[in-house]
Amino acid sequence: MMDFTRTDLEFARELDSRDELAPFRDEFVIAEPDLIYLDGNSLGRLPKRTIDFMRHAVEHEWGQRLIRLWNDGWIHTPTELGAKIARLVGAQPDEIVVTEATSINLFKLAVAALRARPGRTKVVSDVFNFPSDLYILQGIIDLLGRRHRLELIPSTDSITIEPEAVSAAIDSETALVSLTHVAFKSAFMYDMAAVTEQAHRAGALVLWDLSHSAGAVPVDLNGCDVDLAIGCTYKYLNGGPGAPAFLYVRRDLQTQLNQPMWGWFAAKNPFAFDLEYTPADDIARYKVGTPPMLSMKAIEPALDILLEAGMERLRAKSIRQTEYLIFLAEQWLVPLGFTIGTPRQNKIRGSHVSIRHAESYRINRALIEAEPPTVKVIPDFREPDNIRLGIAPLYTTFTDIYRAIDRLREIAEQRIYEQYSAERGMVT
Ligand SMILES: *Cc1c(COP(=O)(O)O)cnc(C)c1O
Repeated sequence: MMDFTRTDLEFARELDSRDELAPFRDEFVIAEPDLIYLDGNSLGRLPKRTIDFMRHAVEHEWGQRLIRLWNDGWIHTPTELGAKIARLVGAQPDEIVVTEATSINLFKLAVAALRARPGRTKVVSDVFNFPSDLYILQGIIDLLGRRHRLELIPSTDSITIEPEAVSAAIDSETALVSLTHVAFKSAFMYDMAAVTEQAHRAGALVLWDLSHSAGAVPVDLNGCDVDLAIGCTYKYLNGGPGAPAFLYVRRDLQTQLNQPMWGWFAAKNPFAFDLEYTPADDIARYKVGTPPMLSMKAIEPALDILLEAGMERLRAKSIRQTEYLIFLAEQWLVPLGFTIGTPRQNKIRGSHVSIRHAESYRINRALIEAEPPTVKVIPDFREPDNIRLGIAPLYTTFTDIYRAIDRLREIAEQRIYEQYSAERGMVT
């Protein structure tokens, strides 16, 4: 833990002035300078260069080139973007493709994995996993005739998962270990190498969900010998709302496994229009149908910014910022009844911090609905009592963190949240 001692605004400004990644903030559209956006882990900001890039994609590529651009470019976009993402997560360029949504990619890869381990009856996940991931796994078990059971690794403190609990769950019955690397609520981060090795020793396949890792923490899929992975592009990768997701299949597994959705884009030669399916013998096998080209294009300029900044520097800043946030929260918020819902050790923490309070929902509303000149803060709320503060080191400043925690202190101290209803909206 870094030793922060100062709780004055001047210090936050000093930290910003010494931050070598600070100029990257200027790459993004900051439409409301007084809005503190701490939700880049749910929907990343819009890069300025994406605007011109998309204008070109719409006016020139679609508007002028029409169908010709499929051959001249679009057909390669899913794998070209995959090669760029590969550089962020330690994979080979031909091991990742951008396609569909994270949930759908989980479906495809988890079915492929279970079919490659016939006779084994257990799927291991954990109580921190994103519900969509658990629902997809439950649906697969139902689809495959209820021959498997899903075992969820428990947590004793609701913040971390003990290595012993992981060991206890993985055994010779386990077909697949499917976990999210950085937990969406507590930001707990697994030791990917250790868990992967453990699963392999038991003869199971491993699938990591990198939705809260890609672009946030360094990942080394090849170095950890990971079998399968999936992840979002609209969070820390800033690809835009609902941007298509990515999937990874280790090269030697690409022809060994078969995903269940035999769309024409997964075929060896889609434009032969054969009546019988022959799967592609590379990562294309894991695609399905025509890619949503406009949404997909928007990912590229955003990835370039991350690659320019570099994952090591981004991680260093993210650690410093989450530490600073936790330091201020301990000084100001813990005495007011908040607790820190995120691991203190850097090694097992991703790039967001959850703080918890019995009145979190109303406090969250008070942050978001503040009227000028009061500072407006956008974090997000996750049931039952988490206010999730996302650090996107490309554009989050130390001053943002200072002002957000200061505002939280004010809301709690003056009980400003009492003016807000606890009734939940549709999207929290
Ligand atoms: C955000 C997120 C998803 C989202 O899945 P979609 O299919 O894109 O809606 C899935 N898994 C995890 C762990 C996530 O954080």
